[in-house]
Amino acid sequence: MNRIYADHNATTPVAPEVMAAMFPFYANHFGNASSVHREGREARAAIDDARMRLAGLLGAQESEIVFTSGGTESDNHAVFGVVGATAGRKRHVITSCIEHHAVMHACQHLEQAGTCDVTWLPADGDGLVNPDDLLRALRPETVLVSIMSANNETGTIQPVRELAGICRQHGVPFHTDAVQSFGKVPVAVNTWEIDLMSVSAHKFYGPKGTGALYVRRGTNIDPMLFGGAHENERRAGTENTAGIVGMVKAAELAAGKLEAESMRMYQLTERLAAGIEHEIEGAHRNGHPRLRVPNTVNYSFEGCSFEGLLLGLDLEGIAASSGSACAVGSLEPSHVLTAMGVSRELARAAVRFSFGAGNTDEDVERILVALRIVVGRLRSFG
Ligand code: PLP
Repeated sequence: MNRIYADHNATTPVAPEVMAAMFPFYANHFGNASSVHREGREARAAIDDARMRLAGLLGAQESEIVFTSGGTESDNHAVFGVVGATAGRKRHVITSCIEHHAVMHACQHLEQAGTCDVTWLPADGDGLVNPDDLLRALRPETVLVSIMSANNETGTIQPVRELAGICRQHGVPFHTDAVQSFGKVPVAVNTWEIDLMSVSAHKFYGPKGTGALYVRRGTNIDPMLFGGAHENERRAGTENTAGIVGMVKAAELAAGKLEAESMRMYQLTERLAAGIEHEIEGAHRNGHPRLRVPNTVNYSFEGCSFEGLLLGLDLEGIAASSGSACAVGSLEPSHVLTAMGVSRELARAAVRFSFGAGNTDEDVERILVALRIVVGRLRSFG
């Protein structure tokens, strides 16, 4: 029986068109974009073209795009880069309790090193951050606010525009980790009024190890990597030409089918949610049922453990996830779910299904059948 891959928030397969766009930059146009010869100039032209196209998709200027090695680097760069650029004065950062580890651990590091105070905004039972809490937390010494646009575990979408608007009014740079929203919902840096934004190619059918950080013109930010003058002296290191070309191709493909795919994803996840609620007792939905990226649905099943659920589903041919790939192997329940007030027991019984291009209605039916079997079996073990 064919396997069902329902873990697209962890990563996606590279689209064939993306592979085709990347291949020439490994085989023929392999030059170093900093070299003056023709091979180098070919690579430089491809990167310049990719930068222009990505800027166009984001409603940004080319000089505002920094190509990186992915979401983690973009997040770290935003946090450490903006805080680093304000050295020599008292500093305060605001983030939320439900961030991805790439932002959370960066902020914890700053806090533990005594570099700055950090305020951790709470989330409500649906995983939403309250803009009033942000307003109250701002201080004269606040140098950065970082709040993700969509959560990787629950899919809940934050009121980014409102949060960013508050920061704009107070002259504080606002960063959003858009790794899970880019390619799934419309993202435009000017509509959202954000100053910094992270994206990662492998979440939207591009290659792993490639991402971008949007940095609004005029934002003070230190480089993350020091060395050559690449990326406007913001990120040293020979550019990953093939990765950059592939990411931008993937971004264009995603933009082209955004509306149709989000509708299809929404229908698949709603169908799964309705089936779970109808057929499985003791199932609790995690995350906002409507304010969410369309492909993601997360449920806790009473009396089960996520390890048992995931292994059971895997044996039934279904790849799902507990939420954060980084949390696998850790005995701690998800920090996102516990911050939302989910009990430790239910947080350890959570499964995330994140659909993508290859999923169909039939997959939903097969997942429901498998869930009934696996949940029933786990509960019978007591
Ligand atoms: N931010 C979020 C919300 C994510 O979901 C992820 C990956 O799971 C990352 C950041 C890290 O991205 P990358 O895997 O490209 O380092």
